[in-house]
Amino acid sequence: MRTPLVVGNWKMHGTCAMARELCAGIVAEQPRFDGVEVGVCPPYVLLPVVADALRDSGLRWGAQDVSEHASGAYTGEVSATMLTEFGATLVIIGHSERRALFGDSDELTVQKLRQAQASGLTPILCVGETLAERQAGTTEQVIARQLDALLSQPDAAKLLEKLVIAYEPVWAIGTGETATPDQAQAVHAFIRARIGGVSAGALRILYGGSVKPGNAAELFAMADIDGGLIGGAALKSEDFVAICAAARGRLGAA
Ligand code: PEP
Repeated sequence: MRTPLVVGNWKMHGTCAMARELCAGIVAEQPRFDGVEVGVCPPYVLLPVVADALRDSGLRWGAQDVSEHASGAYTGEVSATMLTEFGATLVIIGHSERRALFGDSDELTVQKLRQAQASGLTPILCVGETLAERQAGTTEQVIARQLDALLSQPDAAKLLEKLVIAYEPVWAIGTGETATPDQAQAVHAFIRARIGGVSAGALRILYGGSVKPGNAAELFAMADIDGGLIGGAALKSEDFVAICAAARGRLGAA
């Protein structure tokens, strides 16, 4: 069984007080999502607050990006080992906002993923097509290119051992528009087939893109959707908890 996983991406939102309150709200409702793995990825500077609020809760936390370097003269960057000092176990890599706004290429994304894994973090590798790419009928081509940067590595099998993939259609992120369960399932199945081999069956593939309490259950009911990467709705504990609770529907699924 692939344990369902729901992760909140707070993006560049929050204050110390808000982080404390949001974490307390999630922890207080933990019995509602018993059996679901849940994590949050706040901005770097809020990690100590989140670590403090979630310590001993069983919830996970992590970052939204990481340097491709282990250490050195890289002003403004944060390394994977620095994240582990705060108890982080997750890191989002290759989010479409990083790719579009900060120039993270497929190759850079793989270097970051490598650093994350070398430090024991679980990378959540984001892939997804833009609206223009979907309309041009190139969704699978784009996803294949993003995945192949990883699959073409000589040690790909090892890199796949501890990895989560998030399918996030760019046109659904923060737009209120969600892929239909069938649209999402088709891409998730494509990703699993592309990964292939032994790793594919165990690989968790999350869906991200305007997941809300009202649409989470139908998305999580699909065979290859193992949970969600949640943006806007992760900033309200009631909504995030409701989405985590919807993922309980997957318990017992293959
Ligand atoms: C995201 O940024 O990863 C995301 C899925 O955002 P939203 O849920 O707001 O669409």
